[in-house]
Amino acid sequence: MDMLKDRIRKQGQVVSSDVLKADSFLNHQVDPELIMEMGREFARRYREDRVTKVLTIESSGISIAFSTALELGVQMVYARRKRTIMTDTDAFCERVPSFTKGIVTDLLVSKDVLQPEDRILVIDDFLANGDAVRGLIRIIERSGAGLVGLGIVIEKSFQAGGRTIREQGIRVESLVRISRMEQDLVEFE
Ligand code: 5GP
Repeated sequence: MDMLKDRIRKQGQVVSSDVLKADSFLNHQVDPELIMEMGREFARRYREDRVTKVLTIESSGISIAFSTALELGVQMVYARRKRTIMTDTDAFCERVPSFTKGIVTDLLVSKDVLQPEDRILVIDDFLANGDAVRGLIRIIERSGAGLVGLGIVIEKSFQAGGRTIREQGIRVESLVRISRMEQDLVEFE
């Protein structure tokens, strides 16, 4: 997706050889036009796959999952990271390592919002080692719903997540794939 590559070249900041900061268009400040375009692209790729729900993780996944769900005409669900008094006691919970925080975090999805007849499209902003989306995949499995595939905004293909998930036979659609990063340099596949 050329629009996204341009944005990464202009506004992405390489923090280290494996972390890209995208705060000015994706993770902190959000560009609605870019987000809508990404939603249209994911919807185009999964239009024929009878998706019934889009699932993501708060907070950065929400805008992209929203635009995708709007385009597909389905509901969107986001996994919460923290229990609150509003969190259903009857929730699926998976503990996953967090790539950017360096700690483990919980992913929580109420059992009410995933049904066995659902066909789920998982959306996330970055794919690095794959721990976050593997947590969502485990939740989908436990709910009895079906997984249609993944939609990833930025896959860092030099990290193992994309390869290992595809090896499991899961469809992974990434809008851009970064093969290498160095100071001031982002190389796309
Ligand atoms: P994984 O679980 O695949 O190792 O990491 C994916 C999660 O970590 C994403 O949900 C995203 O929030 C975060 N993440 C991974 N790599 C990056 C990165 O290079 N930049 C930013 N901003 N977030 C990242």
